[in-house]
Amino acid sequence: MKFNTKTIHGGQEHDKAYGSVMPPIYQTSTYAQSTPGGHKGYEYSRTHNPTRNALENAFASIENGKYGLAFGSGLAAIDAIIKLLKPGDEVISTNDLYGGTYRLFTKVFEGFGIKFHFIGMENASNIEDYVNENTKLIWVETPTNPMMNIIDVKAASNIAKRHNILLAVDNTFATPYLQQPIDLGADIVMHSATKYLGGHSDVVMGALVVKDKELADKLYFIQNASGAVCGPQDSFLVLRGIKTLHIRMQRHCENGKAVAEYLASHPKIAKVYWPGFENHPNHKIAKNQMKDFGGMISFTTKGNNYNEAIRIVENLKIFTLAESLGGVESLAGHPASMTHASIPKEEREKTGVVDSLIRLSVGIEDAEDLIADLAQAIG
Ligand SMILES: *Cc1c(COP(=O)(O)O)cnc(C)c1O
Repeated sequence: MKFNTKTIHGGQEHDKAYGSVMPPIYQTSTYAQSTPGGHKGYEYSRTHNPTRNALENAFASIENGKYGLAFGSGLAAIDAIIKLLKPGDEVISTNDLYGGTYRLFTKVFEGFGIKFHFIGMENASNIEDYVNENTKLIWVETPTNPMMNIIDVKAASNIAKRHNILLAVDNTFATPYLQQPIDLGADIVMHSATKYLGGHSDVVMGALVVKDKELADKLYFIQNASGAVCGPQDSFLVLRGIKTLHIRMQRHCENGKAVAEYLASHPKIAKVYWPGFENHPNHKIAKNQMKDFGGMISFTTKGNNYNEAIRIVENLKIFTLAESLGGVESLAGHPASMTHASIPKEEREKTGVVDSLIRLSVGIEDAEDLIADLAQAIG
């Protein structure tokens, strides 16, 4: 099956009871047993739920993995990965990453004796400098949030394999429509399904996909033991979202290109961060590992004025000022005061998250309307 077909049919079968085309929402916590242990494969919904399983199979299919796991949020999915580790283990992570991931790593798991190295991975060979006998995981986010740096997943995977280290890729921004990290050598693909996979800003959910049975079993154990699962209603919604992922992504990419080009031509704009530009430092890698360049764009204004950035995001009318991304509607955010407020100013500025930086999640409206909205807000 090719990708577009997989988004609709991958891992799915019609309901056995009545042939319903979509899986029923099995809104149940438990399942009747005829004799102790005599059940139809389902005992308790933290462990398994048929609606969630249908979604987990869809996750595995679209990411070219074998096993999918759905969690109550993206961070719950990351939490499960880090629970594969033990005190003394070390993680090498992208330095420009989702603020909540940074918070989880530093404010929660450092307290359990896990050491994190946050490094620039635009040149993947940097990773090797931080590898030692305690290194157990390489954490890659690409494109990065919010600077849109591109990390070469294949190169990172070669290093990981050489040293027998797990490679996990946060594929939230790209989605499997644009890149499939397992095919590039990643062991674990992670998603905030809250974003593009759900696609309609109505669910918070996380996903993991792996290929290796032993690794899948460890993660299923943690999923059940720690219990950060999602409910059947949310599973249904994300399954429905995935069915239009390919057509939504196509439009996100078209609109992203139009908006990025408009901003780049605007006299008040200093920099536009979007991997589709030929002068993006890792454009070549983006071209190699991604099918297109997505709808996430960041930009700064000349003079780097904090208050001006706030004024712009407040003046937007079609773009909604809000956290999150990846929905059908366009959103704008001010990372320094919103998503990245939990990262100390000096740290965030080192990675480019300056006061005037604005991040856009370009939706699937008409590009002309989005550009007109930006024009009136920037002034
Ligand atoms: C939103 C996001 C997360 C966290 O996911 P939640 O569903 O909000 O818990 C992780 N990584 C990236 C890149 C994100 O955008």
